[in-house]
Amino acid sequence: MQRHINRGNLPLDGYIPEELLDRIRGSQDIADVISRHVSLKKSGQNYVGLCPFHSEKTPSFIVSPLKQLFHCFGCGTGGNVITFLMKYEKMPFIDVVKRMAVDAGIRIANITNNIGADSAGGNEKKKNLLEANKLAAEYYHDILIKSNEGAIARTYLSERGVALESIERFNIGYSSNSWDKAGEYLGKRGISKEVLAEAGIIIQKGKGEGYYDRFRGRVMLPIYDRYKMLVGFGGRVLDGTTPKYLNSPETPLFSKRQLLYGLDLAQNYIRESGYAIIVEGYMDVIVAHQAGIQNVVGTLGTALTGNHLRSLSRFTNEVILTFDSDTAGINAARRSVELFLNSEVTAKVLLLPAGEDPDSYIRKAGKTSFLELLKNAKGIIEFEIERIIENWSNRDQSESIDSRVRVAEECLTLIRKINNRVERDYYLKKVAKEIRTSEEVLRAELVRRKKPGGKSPDSAGVDKPSHNGGMKNKPGVEEMVLLLILKDLNLRKIAGGILTDEDFADSQLREAGRYLLNTDKELHDIINDLTCQDAVKDVISRVGMYDLHFDSPERTLIDCTKVLQRNRLEGEFKRLEKEISAAESSGMYDRIRGLQVEMQQLHQKRRFLFENN
Ligand SMILES: [Zn+2]
Repeated sequence: MQRHINRGNLPLDGYIPEELLDRIRGSQDIADVISRHVSLKKSGQNYVGLCPFHSEKTPSFIVSPLKQLFHCFGCGTGGNVITFLMKYEKMPFIDVVKRMAVDAGIRIANITNNIGADSAGGNEKKKNLLEANKLAAEYYHDILIKSNEGAIARTYLSERGVALESIERFNIGYSSNSWDKAGEYLGKRGISKEVLAEAGIIIQKGKGEGYYDRFRGRVMLPIYDRYKMLVGFGGRVLDGTTPKYLNSPETPLFSKRQLLYGLDLAQNYIRESGYAIIVEGYMDVIVAHQAGIQNVVGTLGTALTGNHLRSLSRFTNEVILTFDSDTAGINAARRSVELFLNSEVTAKVLLLPAGEDPDSYIRKAGKTSFLELLKNAKGIIEFEIERIIENWSNRDQSESIDSRVRVAEECLTLIRKINNRVERDYYLKKVAKEIRTSEEVLRAELVRRKKPGGKSPDSAGVDKPSHNGGMKNKPGVEEMVLLLILKDLNLRKIAGGILTDEDFADSQLREAGRYLLNTDKELHDIINDLTCQDAVKDVISRVGMYDLHFDSPERTLIDCTKVLQRNRLEGEFKRLEKEISAAESSGMYDRIRGLQVEMQQLHQKRRFLFENN
């Protein structure tokens, strides 16, 4: 077996010795780091949660504080704390390591601040856009605070009760009522027109015809993502110009369907309070935070999406949606029902008094009164069922059999989607009472109309994490071999004398086997090895998660390798038999002779491996 040349951990701009990497990795606990982004529950020695790298409803994402590893048994992603941050924050290895080192106060010599050329492209572009946004926000903020032009916006904000402290906290600004001031100013600060246009700060008039400022005469509200990166702007007019609110266009940084205004400031409060309040407007967020209700985030003028819920679910599984109690508000609330039925996040709906939004209500009535109001928030399914029944009872002939059957069916459609039996019973009783029918009839209907082949509500969500710390699978023989040689370098040497990677039938495990049999690296050094393929690291991290005790590891290894070799031989026998019979049926006698020789060799090999030992 040939040892391949291993560059070790050699990023383009510097070399970090493994022991230093170990120190950096050890400076942060993996469970602490991941729980900042994923909601984790304790399960035995491990933590389990919903995987942030694929969409799932039952948790298969496991974090082991003992091993300092994570692994998702759903999508196969795994690794250590560095891998997690690389994948989660989409940052190159070297950047994650540098950041962790800085956080831990560990100095790394010889590493410049330049990101390696291979990670340029996308990253370089994002960096430029972030820089453009940052300078633009400073520029807008200065106009608001310092200039005469900004007076009109200062007056507006103070009339809306926005304190100076909030202006600073949300970094609010004002864009001058001019066609080119922002573009010119930022151009002088060294940002190219192309970058400014891509960031959506200026707009090209036509090909080769110059540019103009997107935001003119607007109160500027910088929008940050949850990492506190300034990714875009919302701008509100001060006169009757439309649109009233203008957002940055979609850019590599800015996606309205994902971002929530204020999440950068609200995330810790959301985690602490256990729920998030979702409002519709920028002012609602600012005023709520100012009043000390800080678990509030806002959508950016779009309906709530699954992406929004996914980013919130890192902090909580419970949200309260606020709507005006006018028809538009009620319809908006009803439109989001479907979204929550398909999500792990549960929602309550708070209807504010007609004509009010959170901003106006909080300014008038204050924090305590708003919090009091929150207690009236209803579960979104209850809310929807009430609407259905209300609409029905307002109809003429609501008492007719036909109309009652229809309203019952509408309600049952919702109730069927509730997974929790207690909750389902509660709603059945409620609906039965409201439409004056017997509960038994409804219950029978519920069962009868269950879609054939579909999951019944009872069977949904029952596959609980097993007692094995949430791990669902037991390792197969091939994985067992990998596990043994991963943990013990001595065994790795022994295996190297018996096995080749060809003995692994599974192609992914074979790659991992090949890698392991050719290296002396230990678990975390492999995961930090930049020359090692991701697919191999995923396998290694999964195998590394297994907790198995072997009385005699060496004996187990030998037994396992025998199984692998026998399986491989059996496979070869089958293949040869097929080829021989194919050659026979087409009369290729030379070929048959050759194959028969191969067959004899195979028999010899089998005797040698399994009979002489
Ligand atoms: Zn996953």
